[in-house]
Amino acid sequence: PVSALDSLPWEATYAALPAAFHVRLEPTPVGHPRWVQLNLPLARQLGLDPERLTTPEALAVFAGNRVPAGADPIAQAYAGHQFGHFVPQLGDGRALLLGELIDVDGVRRDIQLKGAGRTPFSRGGDGRSPIGPVVREYLASEAMAALGVPTTRSLAAVATGETVWRQGPEPGGVLTRVAASHVRVGTFEYFGQRGDRSALRRLADYVLYRHYPHCAQAPRPHQALLEAVAAATAELIAAWMHIGFIHGVMNTDNLSVAGETIDYGPFGFLDAFDPATVYSSIDRFGRYAFDQQPAIGEWNLARLAEALLPLLDDDPDTAVDLAREALSGYRPRFEAAHRAGLRAKIGLAEERPGDDDLVHDLLRRMAAEGADWTLTFRRLSDLDGADARGDEPFRGGFRDPQAADDWLAAWRGRLMAERRSDAQRRAAMRAVNPAFVLRNHLAQWAVDAATERLDFAPMERLLVVLGDPFSDQPEHADLARPPEPGQAVTRTFCG
Ligand code: AMP
Ligand code: MG
Ligand code: MG
Repeated sequence: PVSALDSLPWEATYAALPAAFHVRLEPTPVGHPRWVQLNLPLARQLGLDPERLTTPEALAVFAGNRVPAGADPIAQAYAGHQFGHFVPQLGDGRALLLGELIDVDGVRRDIQLKGAGRTPFSRGGDGRSPIGPVVREYLASEAMAALGVPTTRSLAAVATGETVWRQGPEPGGVLTRVAASHVRVGTFEYFGQRGDRSALRRLADYVLYRHYPHCAQAPRPHQALLEAVAAATAELIAAWMHIGFIHGVMNTDNLSVAGETIDYGPFGFLDAFDPATVYSSIDRFGRYAFDQQPAIGEWNLARLAEALLPLLDDDPDTAVDLAREALSGYRPRFEAAHRAGLRAKIGLAEERPGDDDLVHDLLRRMAAEGADWTLTFRRLSDLDGADARGDEPFRGGFRDPQAADDWLAAWRGRLMAERRSDAQRRAAMRAVNPAFVLRNHLAQWAVDAATERLDFAPMERLLVVLGDPFSDQPEHADLARPPEPGQAVTRTFCG
């Protein structure tokens, strides 16, 4: 075989679903592909032979110039609510699912090319991606994985040697994405809207068996499915809130039913904490602001529930009751995960009355005093539980350091009730409070170098550092810092 991607046991369970689910087609070749990045640890996880992954034939696969032997590429159909408005047909307009591989742990993974050319779902689009968004998604997904947040992964990035036109000419790129699956809330809405009950049932059963096999044994499997997706979404969004991640476009077509972060577009990470932070240039009303994400998750799940109604019960009233019951677990699940994560961020292993107030008092002071989300918690992790002499780095992050001192006094009072040693507490905090996240200005630095000069050195440096986000890495201290006033990136864009 000419590359590690040929002669593989490619599977095509999604392509085997009825014709309404997808369109079969091949990627559109590009002129002069060249390597940008190859994710060898992920390749090994997928059981691919690294030796035969760096060949010209492998590059041709990742560019969409050659379909690997045994693969059966498709564009997937889906619909979605975009900023609250239903669009009955979206679908993969610039992505192609090459097929599925079973990884070394036995988990089925989608292998998808993003930016591989026009499809019947492209509408007015060119089916392509500039290199900038490829770099952003690659960096973000790998950073999220290292932070322990469920996410799609990036296997490869290539530059196409072709020009893509956005505001002006930009070099093109193709990203190879790996996902638990690419089924979205919008996939259910696609068949729900069309009243295609048999397709809906096929899709629900597909997702049950692929992602939530334990639910297939439940008395009401489709209700159990809704409950399971709600729980996975609650946990996912709590994880986002802990690390200060803002997805940016939580349209229902961008919410995976497998509970993974998917479709990195105008996302961002908090610098100074403001709960109402919006970076996305297309989110004019703050629908997807940082603190709106839990509620939007619930709104999106309600759209999933609506689509699933015909499967829940033949009696519409009963179906609605069952859907409500399934969704009622979302809020408590989110709150529990969110509260537990915030307690861990301030170093509390035990739960006592007043803990939530202590957390929220800190968040209020951070917002009022312009404190950086990531650095505040990281610096707190290093403070002594009794001695205030080393407080300077932490208090210096607050415009008025007195606001930090007052809170630290209360925090130290509370720490006395903890049974863990101070060293244990610090180690536990350092394991949940990263030193490094993909701050917007860092992503922009990598994007600008890639776009202007096809220079991928910043991307490579960030991948190394963000791959180990809970270690201090003093030689990379410049990448832990918030942006200087002139560096701040307050607007992010789609690809
Ligand atoms: P996104 O904003 O990336 O979630 O995409 C929303 C919809 O627009 C999806 O159906 C995409 O496939 C489609 N789309 C986005 N960009 C392009 C493009 N350049 N060409 C074709 N379709 C696109
Ligand atoms: Mg999308
Ligand atoms: Mg997309």
